[in-house]
Amino acid sequence: MFEAVGWCLWHFVANFGGRLADARTVEEGRNWGQAIKTRITEMLGIAHPVVQGGMQWVGVAELASAVSNAGGLGTLTGLTQPTPDALSREIARCRDMTDKPFAVNLTILPTIKPVPYKDYAQAIVDSGVKIVETAGRNPEPFLPLFKSAGIKVIHKCTSIRHSLKAESIGCDAVSVDGFECAGHPGEDDVTNLILLPLAARRLQIPFVASGGLGDGRGLAAALALGADGINMGTRFMVTEESPIHIKVKQAMVEASELDTALVYRTLSNTARVFKNSIAEQVLEIESQPGATRFEDIQPLVQGAKGKELFAEGDLERGIWSAGMVVGLIEDIPSCDELIQRIVADAEEIISDRLAQILQA
Ligand code: NAD
Repeated sequence: MFEAVGWCLWHFVANFGGRLADARTVEEGRNWGQAIKTRITEMLGIAHPVVQGGMQWVGVAELASAVSNAGGLGTLTGLTQPTPDALSREIARCRDMTDKPFAVNLTILPTIKPVPYKDYAQAIVDSGVKIVETAGRNPEPFLPLFKSAGIKVIHKCTSIRHSLKAESIGCDAVSVDGFECAGHPGEDDVTNLILLPLAARRLQIPFVASGGLGDGRGLAAALALGADGINMGTRFMVTEESPIHIKVKQAMVEASELDTALVYRTLSNTARVFKNSIAEQVLEIESQPGATRFEDIQPLVQGAKGKELFAEGDLERGIWSAGMVVGLIEDIPSCDELIQRIVADAEEIISDRLAQILQA
């Protein structure tokens, strides 16, 4: 049933102009999917300006290596591993699966159990990884350690003031995370149409656009707005190599752009998640008069339940991060197919559609 619906959708968009790159990788003697080089591809040593962002329970070696093998930058999520030693082993496993660069994400946000961040940072350094994506709080305490190991640090920022701060403390690049994004969009609610041009005007260091990106139009638009590439999380969750249950992937294929919710707003730790019955219960509790106590929602939202949801495919077991981009996701490709399609579509938009507009 699902496959039939998926095929009909594909057939519709392929024939009525929705997709650009179907059945076309070489046209008029050009190798589509080969040409977009930016400061980010140069800095990170990757073929395509496409980064897979950190995702709790999703960023494991299978996904990160698939993205890196496809020419993007795959990312292991540090805290998905229960201990720093387990992270070291996951890094070694990823290295066995790809000889291309990959990153490790270290997110510093409120957690139910205290996290030994210093030990995770040390494990990253000792493993020889050369790219780290930091997120959440100011990464300044970890920069001397990372920089002395020659690590490139990309800090995820949801505002221009945080991006400028990241630049001033020595981060090598930033990931500018618009309000559309999955997970924690901050509290400012500014979308990428504003954030990206501001970043282009004010930052000296390279930046990738994050939030709302899932296709070639998004990549072309992000480049036009001044970004050096894109960071995608939700879109990579819905790939063959993503380690989550097929029912979760299917739910995201079927979802529209209206199927996300913002939880923890009352705790100033806003997170965008898939709008299921658990997210609705959390919103109901947060809408009650008086201050929300995290203890009242903790049984619903704890990460351990999200992990079970991903493993078992029970969509109402807990909550999971998802961006507005679910509204653009129509299939479950391999990472290689996805990246090739996005880059080829972006190239065609830039060199054909936009060039023709200019000539007209
Ligand atoms: P967890 O089980 O410790 O907590 C579940 C959720 O509740 C998280 O979103 C957490 O930020 C939030 N939370 C915990 N204590 C809180 C408090 N006292 N007040 C307000 N909110 C609170 O989290 P987890 O699922 O094991 O994830 C570990 C960490 O990774 C969390 O900080 C989470 O936010 C973060 N995360 C990062 C990404 C990413 O893309 N890098 C994605 C998902 C989660």
